[in-house]
Amino acid sequence: MDKILNGNSDNSQYRPFLEELVSNRNKSTALFEPAVFFIASNERILSAYKMGYVPPSMDEALTYFESNFSAQKLKCKCKDSVLLAVPFSAHEHIDTPLYLGVVLSASAKEEPIISYLEGVVTGSGLTTKRLKKKKMFPINELLELAGYQMEFTSLANALNTCYKKNDSGSGKLVIVERSEERFVPLFYPSHWDLDHFDAVFKQQHYESKIGAEPFVLLKDSQLFENNYHYHVICAIEVENKPVSLLLFTFETEHEAQKAKDDYEQSIKEILPILEKAYIQEKDVQEAQRRDILLQVTKKFHSTMDIGEVLGEIVEAIERAYPHYHVHLLLSQEWQVNENVSIKPLKYGTESGNSTAEHAYLTGQIQVDKELEDNSKILYAPLRGKQGVYGVMEIMTSEDVHVPQYEIDFIQMLADTGGNALENAELYQQSRNLIHDLQLINETSHQLNSNLRLADTINFMTQQIIESFKAEEVGFIMFHANGEAVVLDGSTPFFKNEDSLDALEPLIRKVKRDKDPIYIGDTERHEDVQLDFYKSVLMVPMIQNNELKGMVVTVHQSSYHFTFENFKLLQSLVHHSTLAFSNSMLHEELERLVITDHLTKLFSRNHLDERIQESMYKQNQGTFLLLDIDNFKQINDTYGHQVGDDIIIQVANIMKRNIREEDIAARWGGEELAIYFPNIEVKIGQQIAERIVKAVAIETSPRVTVSIGISHWSSRESEVSLKLLFNQADTALYEAKETGKNRVVVK
Ligand code: GH3
Ligand code: MG
Ligand code: MG
Repeated sequence: MDKILNGNSDNSQYRPFLEELVSNRNKSTALFEPAVFFIASNERILSAYKMGYVPPSMDEALTYFESNFSAQKLKCKCKDSVLLAVPFSAHEHIDTPLYLGVVLSASAKEEPIISYLEGVVTGSGLTTKRLKKKKMFPINELLELAGYQMEFTSLANALNTCYKKNDSGSGKLVIVERSEERFVPLFYPSHWDLDHFDAVFKQQHYESKIGAEPFVLLKDSQLFENNYHYHVICAIEVENKPVSLLLFTFETEHEAQKAKDDYEQSIKEILPILEKAYIQEKDVQEAQRRDILLQVTKKFHSTMDIGEVLGEIVEAIERAYPHYHVHLLLSQEWQVNENVSIKPLKYGTESGNSTAEHAYLTGQIQVDKELEDNSKILYAPLRGKQGVYGVMEIMTSEDVHVPQYEIDFIQMLADTGGNALENAELYQQSRNLIHDLQLINETSHQLNSNLRLADTINFMTQQIIESFKAEEVGFIMFHANGEAVVLDGSTPFFKNEDSLDALEPLIRKVKRDKDPIYIGDTERHEDVQLDFYKSVLMVPMIQNNELKGMVVTVHQSSYHFTFENFKLLQSLVHHSTLAFSNSMLHEELERLVITDHLTKLFSRNHLDERIQESMYKQNQGTFLLLDIDNFKQINDTYGHQVGDDIIIQVANIMKRNIREEDIAARWGGEELAIYFPNIEVKIGQQIAERIVKAVAIETSPRVTVSIGISHWSSRESEVSLKLLFNQADTALYEAKETGKNRVVVK
């Protein structure tokens, strides 16, 4: 302090000022003698000037004040001295204040001295503004909070944060944004119930009072229906139209007035930025939306794939709102890309999500607000023209109001998606329908082309395996006596006795109810003991109200067959039953007559009886089984008519080469047989060789045949039709395997 008093090391910048202030211009300072005038910064005394004789006690106090001065102690005592100081600012735009102070006898009256100090400052043309207030909305802070994004929503968000942080009063900030003809809140105090903002905020009232005034204090209990009756309103205008309002609302007029004074400067500074940001944001959003809609629509027109459509809707929303999370709640099972999060849409009590359900049922977008972290969930229904196909769940991550135009846009996207989904689904359905019709058509065609029953069944089995990806297909028919027989052409599983036993309860059920059966998982049916196969379809064949038989198909995976498969199988069976029972009847009749109508050879039935008779009466016999080589090719090349003719030609060659007592028969299809009663195998073989040669020369178009020969004699331990046939069959098989056009003896 001494140094400063001596002026030696006094900060010359302030010294002349202080001297002029205290001694030269204001003689009245003498009134306070003894006193020490000083200029200080926030934390230290910069320059001091003594008036009159300063006693040692005051000197001591000065030393104390010098080391203890601070902006917080503009009035303090030490011993019998007192320090009084007032702030001032050297320049209008310097925020750091200086202090003009005086140390004098504690007995002096404080108020006049403070007034005097203030008067000195004002009189010197300095600003007496108390420490210039920190700005409410410093631009740099706002920008930082907004992540340096010139985007209105981010800036408004920053403004809100800034206000919460910097304001200590009881005022509230509500930021509203114009959405079409109304204002909707963007941010508002969390404890406010602005659920019914429309009802609470009297927009027309506001407009009638304000007009286009940008910054006003409004004393009006009408604006909000609550305790806040005083409002400082700042309008952000674009083309002379308020697009957003900053509504500071207060309980007392005093607070409102103070806020108006305090914020006005700061807000006027940021207003142009907010306006630009608003325009910019709208432009960018608009362009972005147009772009998204265009892309989405293009994509939808280029695909009929439901999975792709769904993926695209989700992607579009996530592109438009990068902070939102989207899930799809779907009413049906559609195959969708794995990246798209899908949840099934559940109804009723198990759902636990009544908002989603509500959106689905009403077809109206719903907002779920009751979340702890204040984020919201939007449920946008995927609407088509014929119905609602699911709900898009959109989770917002921030505590923000989603304005109506955003909701409208989301719904527009969802609708575009819903329509695309519907188109794709209808397209898929019509394709399925066409496919089904083709299948039925093709099958009917085949059934009408007079094939042998076994061929028909073979064909249908293949169709069912291909169309339904079935693993096993069986045709089970009932004889007049009620016995169930598995027809040739069924897949191997059905040839197994155990399989039939396992299916028995189901067969009985179909027989009783004449209703089709759909089983998705056999494990849920205790009476079905099919360990391996989980999916079963059974469709009865009914003709004239009479159960002829049934078609059964199975698969190892549970729920392998869809309900569509089930319906299609019914339709297939329905269309084929007549043809089936006709050809069954036909073959049954064939079995009963002795001669085959095509070849005029004996029937298989007759052959069986004659061999049995021979086995009973005689000691030996030779059996010959003949099959035309590559006959399918003949049919394929020349048609069935020519095929039939070839069979007749071969039959005639056979007849020409045997005796009266020998029995030539149609074994089935293009397989013919001869039985030589009481004939040893050598002779049979010679005749067979003759037939093979003759066929190879005489037939036209030329064919060859293969023959398998078996023989029985009473000397053998086992004699049976079955054994005889099996052996001939094995021999025939060998003849085929070793080059055809030859004879093999077993
Ligand atoms: P391969 O015997 O040499 O092994 O060959 P493939 O081509 O003859 O084979 P397979 O004996 O298995 O085929 C018999 C074919 O004969 C199948 C069937 O469409 C046809 N077929 C069966 N019965 C008749 C019939 O009465 N008339 C005509 N046109 N074709 C028949
Ligand atoms: Mg054959
Ligand atoms: Mg053949």
